Amino acid sequence: MNEQVDQGHLRTPPGRLFRKYLYSIVALAFAALAINTGFDVWFSYREQKQLLAANQREQAASAAIQIGQFISQIETQIRWLSRLPPELSTNEDVRLNAIRLLRLSPAIAEITELDSKGREQVRVSRRVADRVGSNVDQSSFAAFRGANESRAYYGPVYFFGDTEPFMTLATRGSGRAPNVVIAEVNLRFIWDLVAGIRVGNTGKAYVVDRLGVLIAHPDLWPALRRSDLSGQPDVRAALDGVGPPAGGLIKEDLSGQRVLSTYATVPSLGWLVFVELPLSEAYAPIYASIGRSTFLLIVLLAFAALVSLWLSRRMAVPIQMLTQGARRIGSGDLEQRLAIKTGDELEALGDQFNRMAAHLRESYATLERKVIERTSELEKARDHALAEHDAAERARSVAVAANETKSRFLAVVSHELRTPLNGVMGVLQLLDDGGLSEVQRRHLATAAASGETLIALVDAILEYARLEASAEALETRDFRLDQLIETAADLMRPQAFGKGLSFDLACDPSVATSVHGDPVRLNRILLNLIGNAIKFTPSGGISVSATIERRDDQALLRAIVRDTGIGIAPDMHERIFEDFVQADDSIARRFGGTGLGLAIARRLTHLMRGELTLESTPGNGSVFTLVVPLGNAASGTVQGAMTPPSRRLHVLLVDDDPVNCEVGEAILVRLGHRAAIARNGAAAVALAGSQPFDVVLMDLHMPDMDGVEAATRIRQLPLRPMPRIIVVTADASPSTRERLAAAGITTVVSKPILISALREAIEDAPEHGAPDAPLVPGALIDRHFLADQKELLGASQIAKLHHLLKETSEKLIADITAAAAIGDHRQLARFAHQLGSAASALGLVGLFERCREIELAVPSMSLPECQSAARELAALREASMSALDEMLAPVPASPQPKGEVGSH
Ligand code: ADP
Repeated sequence: MNEQVDQGHLRTPPGRLFRKYLYSIVALAFAALAINTGFDVWFSYREQKQLLAANQREQAASAAIQIGQFISQIETQIRWLSRLPPELSTNEDVRLNAIRLLRLSPAIAEITELDSKGREQVRVSRRVADRVGSNVDQSSFAAFRGANESRAYYGPVYFFGDTEPFMTLATRGSGRAPNVVIAEVNLRFIWDLVAGIRVGNTGKAYVVDRLGVLIAHPDLWPALRRSDLSGQPDVRAALDGVGPPAGGLIKEDLSGQRVLSTYATVPSLGWLVFVELPLSEAYAPIYASIGRSTFLLIVLLAFAALVSLWLSRRMAVPIQMLTQGARRIGSGDLEQRLAIKTGDELEALGDQFNRMAAHLRESYATLERKVIERTSELEKARDHALAEHDAAERARSVAVAANETKSRFLAVVSHELRTPLNGVMGVLQLLDDGGLSEVQRRHLATAAASGETLIALVDAILEYARLEASAEALETRDFRLDQLIETAADLMRPQAFGKGLSFDLACDPSVATSVHGDPVRLNRILLNLIGNAIKFTPSGGISVSATIERRDDQALLRAIVRDTGIGIAPDMHERIFEDFVQADDSIARRFGGTGLGLAIARRLTHLMRGELTLESTPGNGSVFTLVVPLGNAASGTVQGAMTPPSRRLHVLLVDDDPVNCEVGEAILVRLGHRAAIARNGAAAVALAGSQPFDVVLMDLHMPDMDGVEAATRIRQLPLRPMPRIIVVTADASPSTRERLAAAGITTVVSKPILISALREAIEDAPEHGAPDAPLVPGALIDRHFLADQKELLGASQIAKLHHLLKETSEKLIADITAAAAIGDHRQLARFAHQLGSAASALGLVGLFERCREIELAVPSMSLPECQSAARELAALREASMSALDEMLAPVPASPQPKGEVGSH
């Protein structure tokens, strides 16, 4: 089959290579032949020319000799007349001799003999009668003078009767008084001579005298006209003695025909014999030779073209086959085989090519096999990796679940411990009203101390649980730094004194300032450090110092707690900051503690972007340095000592635990407020519907109806004003926060209730009956902003915005949920941002703020955290929108409250 394919290729039109070869060979052959022919023609032309010229020169020379001989023969004859001295011959002798000579030589027309004085003695002529002894003086004649001067005189040619050329020839005799014989010679004889010279077929010869006058020409007429040719350049040059050019001269003759011309000089006379041959005849053999050569050239060229055609095909066709073969192999046809049978290197190349294709096919097959093997290996590896990944994912889920369980467990335990503790501490606080005996006071102090230790322990565990769950967030506000440090010192000083230790507080004046930060957390760290210092110092003392370094927009607090205690071994310097680590087991036995204090302190420090470091040598005490950046206080209002409330609030306290109810009521009373109590959710809803309250303090965990449910129902009552709901709980888990947010509750007070915390929480409660009291808790909607917007845009525009926000936010919540489900952080942050922006348009500040927080926190959130955040936003959006609905809907008439009403 391949053979057929190859034959097919042979029939394909010749390619570029073929044409290249063909043209090259033809051009080469043509060049060689053309050069050869050219040289040939050129040299034979030159030779022919030389030959022609030489031939013509010969003819001219021969004619010149003949003319010379004719003249010298006549000269000899007339010399014969004057051979005898005059004294030996008479005039009559001379006359007879002259007549004889005329008869002998037809060219001589007249003979005159002069004596030595130039007097005519004898004259014999063919035309006139003889004259003897006339004595006519001819001594002045040129012939006489010329003969006397040089023995022989040749006169110029002259025409007699304009028909025939004549020349005067004179010779001088010998003796003392030699006579001179003058002959008039008819040159007609030369005409015959010239006419008889054959130059080729159409060539001619002519003679000019030494003055350039034409004296003999085959055509009579030019000669008879006595044509003067001295004006012609070649004649002029010849007369001036320039020899004829070797190859002859090409010129135009008298009739205007181009001729090859040469000449010879007749000796003694100085005449010139010109021989001319028309060029057409002179070069005819050369042209014939060129014609023959050209014909040969064309024949050879045709032959060369045929040969090169054959050669090119022989070369180009196998190369074409190779090219097409390579192209087929390139396109993947490895079965391709070439059949080149030229028996030379091309055939060898074709064989190599076939071998290469075979190798390639083998390699390709091997490669394919290897690829298949490798692919299956990779698939196996991938399956393995996927299996490992699944296992790791399962392990991670288990770990996460375990961690969450742990955190939940800790939270529940703390809560369950806190509830009774709350009661104990509250009662202890109430007992100290100044009417106790010394012993009772001591017991009370012991009980309080134990309670505080327990609270500290529970706090530590709870805090740790929160930090573990990453639920701890800073709660910042403005506060006096010096007051905070002094309060902490005041709190701890008695303990130090109690152990017989000194206690120094050295605050730099720069510390007496207001700053912005989290005072609760900072206080906790300081108390921990001071507490440890007291705990681990048997003798000596403790010193606390603090300085503030002001930067542009922040104040860098540097607080140092130094003691003279037992110190810490260098290898423990870092480890004591780890969870549940104590420097020494015996320490745990001697001093108690959990090993969590410093771990929490350092985590909180880091939360505040600060550093907590230690320097210590065993036996020489320890130095803890806390460096924390704090913001500058925005205003001059800072937390100071407690002052009585500006207004007495009516507070509804909801708790299923009677002790907590009692403690709470007592604290509220001590804070200067009025309290009503509901023991369950339903009672709370009923009471809230029947009486106006400024604040509802709601316990979260209650049987039947929990705090969130009760709060939601209260919200649904058409109350004016709507009381502010504050939740009291020890549970700070994310799911709880989520539920609270969904119910629109943002203020939370942790259990056990501390007076300062409660005071702080209810301080912002709106004034009862104030004209601009909000319809819903301020945390969800900024009523001032909404009112401004309403005024600015008009009710209808606000209604449109309201509708738009409802739709947009619903869609964004769907997007957020979808993004959270797959843990797409980028999208989640983007949609949260969009939702926040949309919410801010109508003053939904609660939703706006939470969106912003989530947007910022998203990058570090785990998948479950993302999902939880999405749920929280969905719930918060629901609550915010229904609050907005309420605010924008017309206020309905107040219904009659129903349900169980509490006893207080
Ligand atoms: P603990 O509740 O046990 O005090 P901490 O985390 O506060 O837990 O302290 C961890 C350990 O660090 C302590 O058990 C103690 O061994 C060591 N430590 C802390 N502060 C000091 C100090 N000022 N002097 C000596 N040792 C200290």
